[in-house]
Amino acid sequence: MDTIYAPATAPGRAGIAVIRISGAQASAALKLMALVPPPRQATLSAFVDPDSGEELDRGLVLWFPGPRSFTGEDVAELHGHGGGAVIAALLSALDRLSGCRLAEPGEFTRRAFQNGRMDLTQAEGLADLIAAETEAQRRQAQRQMDGALGRLYEGWRADLIASLAHLEAEIDFPDEDLPGGLLARQRLRLEALAGEISAHLDDGHRGELLREGCHMVILGAPNVGKSSLLNSLARRDAAIVSSHAGTTRDIVEVHLNLGGYPVVLADTAGLRDSSDAVEAEGVRRAQERGAQADLKIVLYDCAETPIPDAEVLALLGDDGILVANKTDRAATPPTQGLPISTKTGAGLGELLGRLGSEAGQKMGDGGSSGLTRARHRQGLEGCRDALLRAFDEKDEELAAEDVRLAARHLGRITGRVDVEDILDVVFSDFCIGK
Ligand code: GDP
Repeated sequence: MDTIYAPATAPGRAGIAVIRISGAQASAALKLMALVPPPRQATLSAFVDPDSGEELDRGLVLWFPGPRSFTGEDVAELHGHGGGAVIAALLSALDRLSGCRLAEPGEFTRRAFQNGRMDLTQAEGLADLIAAETEAQRRQAQRQMDGALGRLYEGWRADLIASLAHLEAEIDFPDEDLPGGLLARQRLRLEALAGEISAHLDDGHRGELLREGCHMVILGAPNVGKSSLLNSLARRDAAIVSSHAGTTRDIVEVHLNLGGYPVVLADTAGLRDSSDAVEAEGVRRAQERGAQADLKIVLYDCAETPIPDAEVLALLGDDGILVANKTDRAATPPTQGLPISTKTGAGLGELLGRLGSEAGQKMGDGGSSGLTRARHRQGLEGCRDALLRAFDEKDEELAAEDVRLAARHLGRITGRVDVEDILDVVFSDFCIGK
């Protein structure tokens, strides 16, 4: 297998940059370019060109002999200065060493998985940790990387395999003196497990929401101040604010961090019947977006209409938030909705607080081990469905086969059974050097 190398730090100028090398040639590379220090001890060294002997840089070198390394292989790290020319020179030197090549995106972590250093959910947790932008996302990714989710699923899988062993004993040795009621006992055990999996699935998608961001959408008639609200909340000019009705024809999104929760806030075209084809398309998209959103913020102009009309209220659905804008121009305070003025900023703090707590309720604080990806959900549903089929099955051998299948579904989530076909999907989330 090739020895791989790549910068582990992001491109651009920085105090230091780390180049990681993994594979059988890692120690040879160190001997030619630096020195092989004692394991896991940072040691100062010159980094030289292996052909000319010219000193390219000077920095710390670290040596992690396998299998006690990130990838499980021999790993070396060069901590050089973080400048474009330094990195280019070091990479070019490594490229000239035989058996060494630049790593593919995610290849270090993929090797770590293949060498049993982590399961697939941990590898995904690592990708999520690197991508985490808010505190709750970090917490959730950290737990997953620590193996909390993998342990839960592996525990369930072990239970299934134990039940399967008992079922098979019953099938293979029906006349043996096995304790009575065995099948019934396995059934109780399996039903309890199916119940646990269903409860785990029935989580309002909180882990997935936290990973991907909660989608909130601002809906309302034209000119009520939707773009102004988005801009005020985002504190930047992400949407066109204009006094002409119908200028926001597409959907404008901003990513916000509301008290640690990732939120994608979208402004939409004003909802009204329009003869203009482009605007009509904008309205169609707004309605579609409203239907898909995790939370709807419905805005009305309380200076124009002191009481929101039925059409506006219909947009709210079950759990939308009604907001009364332009209180600065209203003759009397609005009777319905959260009063705000995007012009004076009145009420915006309260609105942000409300949105943050709604987001928190939908996503949790990342502290419990919930599933975080559609991939997990599919595997768990597959597992539960196979168990439900087993309960209906009259033939014991077929029932055992369903239990075996249920265990396989769990094994695919953690990567304990053959998963070659899903590795490309999992590791495509990574970039080079990870
Ligand atoms: P949209 O069509 O719903 O996106 O509305 P805009 O954000 O483009 O705003 C329409 C008009 O209302 C613009 O002239 C804004 O300056 C004005 N506007 C927005 N919010 C307020 C507010 O709180 N008070 C007042 N007086 N005018 C506002």
